[in-house]
Amino acid sequence: MAVVCDRCGDILFSSNSAFMPDMRSDKDRVIGLLVKSVEVMIVKASSSITDKDEFELLGVGVGVPGNVDPIKGTTRYLPNFGWLDEVPLSRILKDALNRSDVCREYNCGTNLLKNLETKNIQMRNDGRCAALAERSFGYGKGLSSEECPVFCMLTLGTGIGGALICSKQDGSGGNILFDGCTYDAGDFGHHVMCSGEEAFPCVCGKRGCFEQHASAAGLARHYNSLLEAAYIHLSNDSAHYDQSAVAEFASSTTGSLHKITRKMAASCIVLGYTPEGGRFKKAPLTREEIEVYMQSLSPISLDNAKVVVDLVKDDDPVATLSWLAYLEDLSTGLANLISFYNPSVIVLGGGLGKSKELYAEWMGLTLQQRVDAKTLPATRKVCSIVASTMGGTAGAIGAANLVHAYA
Ligand SMILES: [Zn+2]
Repeated sequence: MAVVCDRCGDILFSSNSAFMPDMRSDKDRVIGLLVKSVEVMIVKASSSITDKDEFELLGVGVGVPGNVDPIKGTTRYLPNFGWLDEVPLSRILKDALNRSDVCREYNCGTNLLKNLETKNIQMRNDGRCAALAERSFGYGKGLSSEECPVFCMLTLGTGIGGALICSKQDGSGGNILFDGCTYDAGDFGHHVMCSGEEAFPCVCGKRGCFEQHASAAGLARHYNSLLEAAYIHLSNDSAHYDQSAVAEFASSTTGSLHKITRKMAASCIVLGYTPEGGRFKKAPLTREEIEVYMQSLSPISLDNAKVVVDLVKDDDPVATLSWLAYLEDLSTGLANLISFYNPSVIVLGGGLGKSKELYAEWMGLTLQQRVDAKTLPATRKVCSIVASTMGGTAGAIGAANLVHAYA
């Protein structure tokens, strides 16, 4: 997506390019598409704005799905694109735009495009861009540096993107990304928060990464894993269940329940303790019913995460147990972030991050209460867990805003 934004984060012009996943690894095609997108925006702006003197193009901001060096203007590691070596994207883009006939012809009343410099092209990870937009134009809009000195945002999608944004203390009202020493800060999704047999393997090579357990796709992963665990229990005559422990667990329908293991949840299903409306009720599922469930196993995807949430709303027992396990993992990871960074607020984006179910009370506890229960006394109830107020354009708006913030 390409946008032209003003300083208030309002989109003046936008366009969506036909970008197919199989194009990702072809650097020339991706860069060509980037140049074309900028040209389309310039033509749209030039043909729509009558008073060219009122329009000044300050530069170009680019959000990329991976690690960048914003000082050198290079992408360093874009695993989803297969770009594993450093690419001097800002320089390539600058040279291409300076050669562009379209940029020369439609100059929007500014000399910028006659001699675009690398400093006019700003680049950051796309998740960090979305977070910048959320701080300036979304939930964080209007919050002063005193009210919100440290702003944290996570996007719950296929993985977990994020950023930490600090308010400038110079009274300017500006915000800056906490970049870390090599611009890698904010990869919250790959902090390990689970180990042992409960840990899901991660694409990064580790096990138990936060994003495998608590992204939107992680919810679908919990659902599938619980079904598989229940099926293994059913299929293995030698499987042993501690029936009294399961019965005790299933009867503890109060807020004292802080951790549900997958084995325990699977045992609940097999032994007939299934939750209804967030509370456990003895309602046995038959082998046939479990087998029907097994047929519903499907790829780990954002669409299937939505399916699980819909099943939770219908009090589906397997989905509800998966949901409780998911909430425990999400709250553990969020509590870890609070211990690491002591943020004023954590904003959750992505479709799941904005769903009201995430903030509702389940088994007597809200997400906020689950998080607070796992934080140290000094930081407990200090950090609010809230939903993003921005839509799918946040990343593009944040990328454009980089030019204001950093050029
Ligand atoms: Zn990982």
